[in-house]
Amino acid sequence: MALPEDVLTNGALIRDLEEVAKDIALLHGVLMRTKETPNSSEVVSYAPFTLFPSPVPRAVFHQALAVQPHFNRLVDRISQDPNFLKEALASTIKVDDFTARLFSIYRHVLQEGRSQSIVVGLNRSDYMLDQGPDGSTALKQIEINTIAASFGGLSSRTPDVHRHILKVAGRLEEQKLVLDNNPAAGLARALAKAWELYGSERAVVMFLVEDVQMNIYDHRYVENELWNRNIPVIRRRFDDVYKTGSLDNDKRLFVDGKEVAIVYFRNGYMPQNYTEQSWEARLMMERSLAVKCPDISTHLAGTKKVQQELARPGVLEKFFPDDPEAVTQIRATFAGLYTLDMGAEGDKTVAMALANPDQFVLKPQREGGGNNIYGADICQVLESVKDSTERTAYILMDKIQPQPVHNYLLRRGSPLKLCTCLSELGVFGTYVRQGTDMLLNECAGHLLRTKSAEHSDGGVAAGVAVLDNPLLV
Ligand code: ADP
Ligand code: MG
Ligand code: MG
Repeated sequence: MALPEDVLTNGALIRDLEEVAKDIALLHGVLMRTKETPNSSEVVSYAPFTLFPSPVPRAVFHQALAVQPHFNRLVDRISQDPNFLKEALASTIKVDDFTARLFSIYRHVLQEGRSQSIVVGLNRSDYMLDQGPDGSTALKQIEINTIAASFGGLSSRTPDVHRHILKVAGRLEEQKLVLDNNPAAGLARALAKAWELYGSERAVVMFLVEDVQMNIYDHRYVENELWNRNIPVIRRRFDDVYKTGSLDNDKRLFVDGKEVAIVYFRNGYMPQNYTEQSWEARLMMERSLAVKCPDISTHLAGTKKVQQELARPGVLEKFFPDDPEAVTQIRATFAGLYTLDMGAEGDKTVAMALANPDQFVLKPQREGGGNNIYGADICQVLESVKDSTERTAYILMDKIQPQPVHNYLLRRGSPLKLCTCLSELGVFGTYVRQGTDMLLNECAGHLLRTKSAEHSDGGVAAGVAVLDNPLLV
């Protein structure tokens, strides 16, 4: 462990640091609106974060950064492969209404023909560090988020907070081990590139936002990077697009009378985000000439079912016929992933999960945290669906077992408490393609999120994890 126990158990020091930490977070703009007034900035608070950065081995950290451009290419290639997407999702869309609905938009766009050849991808590949019995640490991907991947803004500000706390704690050597990070700039760079390619100075970047906007400051960092380049940004909800949006004869998208160059989805990744009108609005945006971030095919490329299909032998090779090194690097991060499709292979998965439920996670096709199934619940759910096609709504995954670390979690309204914590490392990937030319393909920075080990699931938005920084060891 990077920080000695005597720091963590020094009550007077911790109380001091708690006060310093909250103030410095506010000063550096690590902000969130409150639950009570999520759509107003009259009264705001700090976003939840750890008191100290958490140790991450240098080698796996750099491994995660290095593999990101390959993941960008992989996601992009999947998004251009209708046969693969159709086959991979065939069983899922029979039983999962949400994925089916997305897929029907995809089909519509394929039939009509894509109107836009510019693609901008902003994704975040998330990992946990699996602790082997021999003490080894392996980087294992949890999932890749191809839509609405958040915290690129706030994570650009948290390094200064942790460095300051470490200085006040007298840990001058450790504070040098907290790296600079600026995903906001990287995300904006890709959006700006796509906006330039779209080629209309008056056209705006539209952030498609939630009805409840607690995490607005995270967006604002990216937004401001765009305004600084004189790229106009508007923020609209599905309902606004439904009411004031239209396509002209060339399928240019207009919202509130403004031409939209890019739709940047920060919403639309879960069923609760949609009314019938929202689905109509989504279809209109997908059919339009606006650049979509992500487009519907890239959204589908990020489903958990696709992740499981990619883990099958020979599949990665098909996407990288010319680049065995990319295949090796990507595959090294895969945990065991198992199909629940009907047939002998799926039956084997069921038996394996029922025999050792604690070694696995059962995942439906959902995003946003809090949807996965663990331990005894796996048996309960599988027992009820194992003989029907309903089981194909899920995939099974090896449970990753990271090394727990002690830390304090700061969250508005909760007393500070020493927790046994687990961390998840995210890496932001950005790319811009026009036709067949990859014009930008970058790793744009990182995000560390940490949660108390008593929770098996849930992200920052779900109120479980908090923002953190890697302390490279
Ligand atoms: P979501 O799209 O909802 O974020 P994830 O696959 O990221 O779905 O799962 C949510 C959370 O569940 C993760 O942040 C992690 O804490 C936990 N989790 C997911 N998969 C695993 C796994 N294979 N091993 C251990 N924990 C996992
Ligand atoms: Mg996700
Ligand atoms: Mg996740």
